Amino acid sequence: MDDQTGCEGDQTAVGDTETAYGTGVEGARERDSDDTLAEFATHFETPEDLYLDGNSLGPISDVAEQRLEEAVEQWRTLGIRGWSESEPPWFWYGERLGEQLAPLVGASPEECVATGTTTTNIHTTVGTFLDTLEEGRRGVLVNDLDFPTDHYAIRAQLRQRGLDPDEHLHLVESRDGRTIETEDIVAGMDEHDVGLVFMPSVLYRSGQLFDIETITTEAHERDILAGFDLAHSIGVVPHRLSEYDVDFAVWCSYKYLNGGPGAVGGLYVNERHFGTTPALAGWWGHDKETQFDMNLEFTPAESAGAWQISTVPLFSSAPLLGALELTHEAGIEAIREKSLNLTSYLISLVDEHLDEYGCSIGTPREHERRGGHVAIEHPEAYRLSQALRDSGAVVDFRQPNVIRVCPAPLYVGFEEVWEFVQLLADILESDRYQSYDREPSGVT
Ligand SMILES: *Cc1c(COP(=O)(O)O)cnc(C)c1O
Repeated sequence: MDDQTGCEGDQTAVGDTETAYGTGVEGARERDSDDTLAEFATHFETPEDLYLDGNSLGPISDVAEQRLEEAVEQWRTLGIRGWSESEPPWFWYGERLGEQLAPLVGASPEECVATGTTTTNIHTTVGTFLDTLEEGRRGVLVNDLDFPTDHYAIRAQLRQRGLDPDEHLHLVESRDGRTIETEDIVAGMDEHDVGLVFMPSVLYRSGQLFDIETITTEAHERDILAGFDLAHSIGVVPHRLSEYDVDFAVWCSYKYLNGGPGAVGGLYVNERHFGTTPALAGWWGHDKETQFDMNLEFTPAESAGAWQISTVPLFSSAPLLGALELTHEAGIEAIREKSLNLTSYLISLVDEHLDEYGCSIGTPREHERRGGHVAIEHPEAYRLSQALRDSGAVVDFRQPNVIRVCPAPLYVGFEEVWEFVQLLADILESDRYQSYDREPSGVT
């Protein structure tokens, strides 16, 4: 794992040798012809040519669809025998997917399982670890730029233990509304009752990448547990959870992993914690050897599998199996390198072509502080995002002034990034975004 590049906490910048390329669309095409991952785009189908929203919902791939069709066929031909006779056996599907997920997060196979969703996995892991903490040390440290569901779940888990969330959920505040300083997280650990730190790997809005190693090390020095939400990084940023001794992590599979809408999520639990009783126990987390003895007493599996609750949802798991084949074929290190090159290129084009229209970059520019998407800030971000969508560029809007642009490395090329910037410049120049409503409604 020593040759991992551009990993969180890694100071070595992955290089985009800007000077080697020409300017204009030619420069974009030259980059594409040097791109060793370019052919992977042929596996994917997107509804629009400029699909730059893969950090919200990754597109379908031929392999994902094929694995789904196989699962349907197994259901048809095997019926209940599919639990043991299909490949992989449905009974072990969550664990088999866990083995495939483990290298992406830098964990051993037993430390990962595909199960639940990000939110249910936060409920069960945070609940579990709150139960291991002493009275008076059951405060949780989070930050004020988090994805809201994380707070909803943690607050609910605190309440269920008779702990008032207003008192025991501690918020690290952002200084600039975009990013969170590591030193502020570390300072927050000294709040009197903090026993657990729960942070995202990448902030969903600005795209800031957190320093997981430092946060974990500093937490452990204070006898604090460290958990992470990897929803916005898994599949695009390599992680080293075991090496950094992270206690637990959760994620979803429908963003950079391209597992499909509502795909089964995943979690990691450090092997040190195997045997701990899950807060939301269910028979699917029972020791598999004796699960069908149907004992009324719960015996947790000696693995992250213990945190499963219910029967694996096969049709929201099978596409992930296929999608992971593509991720591994490309290699997470190569994916990260291309991702950084794409976002560096996008940032340089925004600086060059869109600055004059009032666009600015809300994402950290240092490689080791940047995930896979870029936040372009503009006061008219909402109307611009609508105009972009109607012109065939799928991006999303986040309050109050952010257009999120995600050039996902497996299916977006440099020429598309170039086209996107030209399109946005054209929309700004022509003022045609002004015919849209000012305010969003519904799913953005
Ligand atoms: C996408 C995302 C979620 C989504 O939660 P679900 O339970 O899968 O709906 C949660 N947290 C973060 C940080 C996310 O980026």
